[in-house]
Amino acid sequence: MLNFIATINKLLVLIDIDGTLIHPGLTPRYALAEAIYQHTGQQIEFTVPQLAGMTDPLIVKNALDFLNIPVQNRDGLPECILETYLEILALRYPLAADRRLYPGVIDLLDYLQNQPVRLGLITGNLEPGAMIKLKPFDLAQYFSMGVFSSDHPDRDQLPPIALTKCRQQFGEDYRLEQVVIIGDTVRDVWCAHRNGMRAIAVVRHADRRVAIRAEKPDLIVDHFKDITPIIDYLSSRI
Ligand SMILES: [Mg+2]
Repeated sequence: MLNFIATINKLLVLIDIDGTLIHPGLTPRYALAEAIYQHTGQQIEFTVPQLAGMTDPLIVKNALDFLNIPVQNRDGLPECILETYLEILALRYPLAADRRLYPGVIDLLDYLQNQPVRLGLITGNLEPGAMIKLKPFDLAQYFSMGVFSSDHPDRDQLPPIALTKCRQQFGEDYRLEQVVIIGDTVRDVWCAHRNGMRAIAVVRHADRRVAIRAEKPDLIVDHFKDITPIIDYLSSRI
């Protein structure tokens, strides 16, 4: 008779993609600008503050506001733009030379994979966009679930959806303090704390440090080259 001992996951760790696991390079923002141009005939140039920590549907909404496109003329427009964006991204991202995986990410994911941790994605990308971005680095294999802006355009609404998915897909229930969100912007910290969850911030840009520190994430690291602080923090919670 086989003895089956189920692993009981003690934590749900949700990780952001852009700026946290990978540097996506410029292809995604050019793809979105081109999609907007194809559907509106208007040019837009995105800057980092318009993008960092934002969800794709919100970026498009803000762009249409910026271009003064009347709300009554937008019927179906955001959806068409996002569909075209995904088509362009699927073609160009695999060939992009400026995308890269941050050092230490594989070490972190390998570590987490061997812990009693349910590992998920939490991202402002639409689900197909997230998969396009992860594929060249073969990262999707580490994540058994995820919440995307396809689930909700407001990042702050994603954590409760993650809890529901864990319950439905795995029969797992996590208390709020058993959920840790790892991200690179102040919006990731807000998203965790507004939902009563823990936040680890990876501050890759020195100019974001003051703003992120002010939001009091539970742990701040500069990179994943040394994952010891993250291991220590998570071990103390397992
Ligand atoms: Mg990010």
